[in-house]
Amino acid sequence: MRFIRLAALLAVTATIGGAQTAPLMKVLIAPGAMDEAVNEGDVRITITVPGIDAAAGAPLFSVPASADLTVTDASGPVDGAADPGGQRKWKASRAVKGDLVIKYRVHVHNTPTNGGIPPLGPRIDGHGFSAAGLTFLAIPEVATPYRMLIDWDLSAMGAGATAVSSFGDGRVEVPAGPPVRLRLAAFMAGPISREPAAPQRTGFAAVWTGDPGFDLRPPMQWTSKLHAWMNDFFQTANDRPYHVFLRFNPANAGGGVAFPNSFVVTYGAGVTGESMKHILPHEMTHTWTANDLGKWYDEGSAVYYQALLPWRAGLMTTEQYLDDINKTASRYYTNAEIDAPEAKIIPNFFSNMWLNTLAYDRGALYFAALNGKLRRASGGKRSIDDLIRTMVHKARAGETITEDTWVTLLQKEIGDDAVALHRSMMRGGIVRPESDDYGPCFQREIKKVRRYELGFNPKSTPDGKKQVEGLVEGSEAAKAGLKNGDIVTYPVITTEGVRRDPDATITAQVFRESGNTSIAFLPRGVALDIPQWKRVPGVSDAACKN
Ligand SMILES: [Zn+2]
Repeated sequence: MRFIRLAALLAVTATIGGAQTAPLMKVLIAPGAMDEAVNEGDVRITITVPGIDAAAGAPLFSVPASADLTVTDASGPVDGAADPGGQRKWKASRAVKGDLVIKYRVHVHNTPTNGGIPPLGPRIDGHGFSAAGLTFLAIPEVATPYRMLIDWDLSAMGAGATAVSSFGDGRVEVPAGPPVRLRLAAFMAGPISREPAAPQRTGFAAVWTGDPGFDLRPPMQWTSKLHAWMNDFFQTANDRPYHVFLRFNPANAGGGVAFPNSFVVTYGAGVTGESMKHILPHEMTHTWTANDLGKWYDEGSAVYYQALLPWRAGLMTTEQYLDDINKTASRYYTNAEIDAPEAKIIPNFFSNMWLNTLAYDRGALYFAALNGKLRRASGGKRSIDDLIRTMVHKARAGETITEDTWVTLLQKEIGDDAVALHRSMMRGGIVRPESDDYGPCFQREIKKVRRYELGFNPKSTPDGKKQVEGLVEGSEAAKAGLKNGDIVTYPVITTEGVRRDPDATITAQVFRESGNTSIAFLPRGVALDIPQWKRVPGVSDAACKN
């Protein structure tokens, strides 16, 4: 999962010249004592931005939910207020000149749902604090590039506290670029646990605070191996710090968000140890392939590679890889909006569950189909990997990447056929990889898979439960005994869990006057004949892993 577009931002960063001449803005983060058991914390923030020259009423910075906000410039205190809307742009009542200093306090308090979607708000795990920049940092509204000093005051956190952000360990100076980069970064402070145990100047490090209740080190060692392998695969130097931020999520474990050189991933009920391996490769792929082309490219490539690369690296079994291909194919071919055009996806991404998953799955099948076409066109010499690597290297070199960049590559390497597939996919055409497009180890077969169907409309109640309405007659929920008017709770339905697994059941707790009960059902409706893939006996894995 990933919901933040960041590649345009990175391109800007990469092309800014005169890095040393850009002024230096300072971000000082001072977390207070944190204790999950007390569950009340404060973080004091001071942001200093030199060289401001803004007219009265111009937006100065966007401000998160905070208290004790004070703003000063060279002439002293500045009055102003934030817009009430979602952006919360703070505007001064007079002109502002010189060093802009923004000070405020952020309250940290875990709620049963604050690990929800997105899993990025300020939280306390153990004696540590963590948050993504977009949820707690004021972002100056400036058009010119700034160098940024990320600094920490850990004196209130007690002995042994350290700090880390997506920019690196502790105090870090970040090269010139737009301050909005602060939004797309994770921050953590406190008694931080690490894998590997000693801080690294470059390369992989996983960080967390508190006791997750299971051993995070084995899955993180696995992730570290994958990270090194992916660096080789994408032919990039492993010369940057790379951080995985781990947080507990009480509401919807398993969510992840990728940022530059880092990602946040959450553990919790059902997502511990081994099962985390299904999220980590996806988020890590974004590190290389994220750009602004659209969900079809960004999420499509992450889904395409999320099991393929671990399998090739020897970190997943053939069965696990095949299972991943088939779950993606089953969610795609049973999608009720399978023929929706790509343009319909973004406006409806959070309101329509079919469109939400369509971009992920269709993109992955599209890359598989292109892979087959390119292998055939090149007599097996070229694959989709070559095209994706070309895109990665163009982006890292600061080239502007557009859909035309991609289409031009398709035309050159494969020809009209691939361009036609691209245009068709964007219009909503159904993508159908050939039988051997996943390599000679796998072949297509037709299987019956049932479409996802909850069987009722869950209406939210004031106390966070759901009320069953519009129960579909003959649905699995009805057959299992749910009734209209029932008050129920059930685990959050995730796109990675129930929606992706045709065999996954839901167990609802049902609260009735006649007595509480629990009812399990398979949230599936009509059965469709769809493509799935199976292992071809007698062909060795080695023949398929290149
Ligand atoms: Zn994603």
